[in-house]
Formats: sequence, C-alpha cells, structure tokens
Amino acid sequence: MSDSSDCIFCKIVAGEVPADVLARNDHAVAIRDLNPQAPFHALVIPVVHHENAAASAAADPAVIGHLVGLADEVAKASGNDDYRLIANTGAGAGQTVFHTHLHVLGGSSRMTESL
Ligand code: 5GP
Ligand code: ZN
Repeated sequence: MSDSSDCIFCKIVAGEVPADVLARNDHAVAIRDLNPQAPFHALVIPVVHHENAAASAAADPAVIGHLVGLADEVAKASGNDDYRLIANTGAGAGQTVFHTHLHVLGGSSRMTESL
C-alpha cells in the first residue's frame, strides 16, 4: 500500500472532502468526476487505499468485482446501459490520483479517446 495520509480519494471516502456521491456500499464509493470528460462521468473508488487497480487486485481480488458492480449500478441508474470503464495505471497513462479508481463514462458514442 502506498502512502495514504495525503490522498484526496481517502478524504472523499472518509467524508472529509465533499463530493457528489452517487452510491456507496461497504467496499466502494461512486462519485461524479469534478472535471467530466463525457455526459456521464463517474469515478468508482474502493474504500481501501492502494495505488492502482493491479495493486488492489493483488491485495484482494474481490475488490475489482465490487468496483465493476458499483460502476454498472450507477451507470444504469443514470440511464446509461452502455458505458466504458477505464483504469489509468501510471503517470505515463494519465493517472493523476494514486488511489485506485475506475472511470465510468457514458452518454456519447465516442466517450473520449483518452483520459
Ligand atoms: P486519473 O487521471 O488519475 O485517472 O483520474 C483522476 C480523476 O479524478 C480526474 O478525472 C479528476 O477530474 C478527478 N478528480 C481529481 N480530484 C477530484 C476531486 O477532488 N473530486 C472529484 N469529484 N474528482 C476529482
Ligand atoms: Zn487513498
């Protein structure tokens, strides 16, 4: 686990930083992205801090299933039966927040080429 003491997503999960929360359960929180790249753009964030999806999977494979399940729930609840999931891994791939998260993108045919 990487350092979580100054992690914005840990603070959002803990309710210490405000966010537009779409859904949450014991495993993950779904919020609206602050800077949406598609008509529907949510982030699904596991409660437990790891720096990327592979690290979360290595620590607890079930967590990835929980993330995908919550992503499907919030996408469908917002009217997006079709959507795209992205997990940027590493700065070179565009990752800027080093706490695992899935982008959930919906509402357009292209849903953006990069994030
Ligand atoms: P990454 O580039 O790491 O894959 O994605 C990080 C995402 O988090 C970006 O899309 C960015 O807009 C979003 N983000 C960063 N800080 C905040 C925040 O404080 N609140 C919310 N809702 N989204 C954030
Ligand atoms: Zn964190």
